Order: sequence, then C-alpha cells, then structure tokens
Amino acid sequence: MTHTPGPWKANLNGQDAKVICPDGRCFDVGDIVYHKDNIANAYLIAAVPELLEALEAVEWVYEREYEESYCPWCLSIKPYHAPSCLRLIAVRKAKGALS
Ligand SMILES: [Zn+2]
Repeated sequence: MTHTPGPWKANLNGQDAKVICPDGRCFDVGDIVYHKDNIANAYLIAAVPELLEALEAVEWVYEREYEESYCPWCLSIKPYHAPSCLRLIAVRKAKGALS
C-alpha cells in the first residue's frame, strides 16, 4: 500500500481547509472559522509526503571511526532500532503498521 504521490498542498478557501494532491483529489481537513487549529493541521498534513521521504532517506548515519552505521534518532547500531525510536514509530505509523 502506498500513499498518493506528493507534493500535497494546503488550501485555505473560505471556511474550510483542504489538502490537495497533484492528481486533483483532496482531503477535507475541516472548518477554520471555529477550529483555527485546522489551518495548522492542513499545513502539517500537506507536508507528510516530504516528511516521510526525509525520514526514509536518513535511517542510518555512517560512523567512519567505528566503521558502523547507526540510527541518528535512537543511536542503535544498524540494522536495529530501539523500540522507542521516534523515527521507527513515525514511519510505521505513517505506513499503517501501528494502527
Ligand atoms: Zn532508531
């Protein structure tokens, strides 16, 4: 299962916030008159494809001195992550593995 390709854009039009995908589909975020936090929610949701891409691109950092790679978030040595690793949790959640 993969998500709709980005970039997604926040759209604040009238009383509602939406997130619009390149193929024209959109996700309704909700009312922005009474729920101002939906403005921030729309921007956050629109950034998700890039955030996920960034997290997937930087899973391991190579440490030349020790000739090993480690996770910059939980500091575990490749190929392991700590169960509490924020990167691991965020990527799994984004891919539906924690639902
Ligand atoms: Zn980690």
